[in-house]
Amino acid sequence: MSLLDHLSAKLAALSAQSLTRQLRTADDGTAPRQRVNGRELLMFCSNDYLGLAAEPAIADALAEGAHRWGGGSGASPLVSGHSAAHEAVADTLAGWFAPHIPQARALGFCTGYMANLAVVTALGDEHTEIFSEQLNHASLIDAARLAKAKVTRFPHVDLDALRTALAASTAKVRLIVTDAVFSMDGDLAPLPGLLALAEEFDAWLVVDDAHGFGVLGATGRGALEHFGLRSERLILVGTLGKAAGLAGAFVAAHTTVVEYLLQAARNFIFSTASPPAIEHALLTSFALIDGPAGAQRRANLVALQVRLRDGLMALIDRHPRLGWSLTDSSTPIQPLIVGGNAEVMALAAALEAAGLRVPGIRPPTVAAGKARLRITLCGTHTAADVDTLLAALGRAAAAQEQAA
Ligand code: PMP
Repeated sequence: MSLLDHLSAKLAALSAQSLTRQLRTADDGTAPRQRVNGRELLMFCSNDYLGLAAEPAIADALAEGAHRWGGGSGASPLVSGHSAAHEAVADTLAGWFAPHIPQARALGFCTGYMANLAVVTALGDEHTEIFSEQLNHASLIDAARLAKAKVTRFPHVDLDALRTALAASTAKVRLIVTDAVFSMDGDLAPLPGLLALAEEFDAWLVVDDAHGFGVLGATGRGALEHFGLRSERLILVGTLGKAAGLAGAFVAAHTTVVEYLLQAARNFIFSTASPPAIEHALLTSFALIDGPAGAQRRANLVALQVRLRDGLMALIDRHPRLGWSLTDSSTPIQPLIVGGNAEVMALAAALEAAGLRVPGIRPPTVAAGKARLRITLCGTHTAADVDTLLAALGRAAAAQEQAA
């Protein structure tokens, strides 16, 4: 069979299950409004939770950084790609996480995917057992597959199952690996319970706070601040392309852990450092996260979450035959579980016709039968924006119920 025939058959199978994905091209705009095919859409799909990507101060800082440092970094960090801007970002983050991680040091990466790959492959050697949460992000799953460590998966937020698995482990080193905010459900990992188990069983806790950094905690430090955690066993990954409004990621951990990553993480060592202009602009982003704009947008997010959840619950009550449901989320990720792939895509299309961009999420990203609209809020949405979404969903629900 030729490769093209083989791939065409696989593509046809995806299409038959309503699982084909499509790239959509935005003309311009940033969250929460974007033009697509010449039409302005109100977005409930960006992870730019604080709306910082649209901040003029960030654009100015990018331009200033580009004038000072040029376009790209030109080399991997250990060769010549590491600039004073990279160092300042790492120093700021080390200071931010010092209250949570004794002897904290931070190290930057180009993406969160790469940061997760670095931590899990470098630390997950043949002496290690990785305890991986069932709903972990794909990058953590891929990283665990690549690591030399034994991998044991534990069921979603199930501390008892994890305890049993830890108690049975004979590995020299134990690494518990979890998302802090689950990206497709929006619920929080039971981090205090996970850390208590790490202490009890001499394990280390890798926390991927991609969706908590900038959002959770009084000053936006994320899940560690939200739960008030402190331990040298915490190994934190944060991303900078979401609430920070730019790009990149970091690992914050005990200095010995970070020093080892610098020596051993192959995807860090053998990959070009991020553009210094981005690092320069991240300093502006951090000031915004830390300042009154960050505090105001975090407070707005909480108010909008409540408004959206109340509205969605009322909608579900009005249309019980559709079988829609919510998750146990107290974050800006508020999914509406619809069930079928074709149904969720029809719903997303109906919303788009009404001027709203909300993505339908299907397997394998979520379990079969659990396709959903992944509604995400932005700190620059207004209450009227949320009401617009609820009204459009109400019309779409009535139409789907009639058609059923
Ligand atoms: N972890 C989680 C939980 C994520 O949701 C994502 C991105 N969607 C990543 C890691 C990867 O981060 P990045 O997009 O910076 O590669």
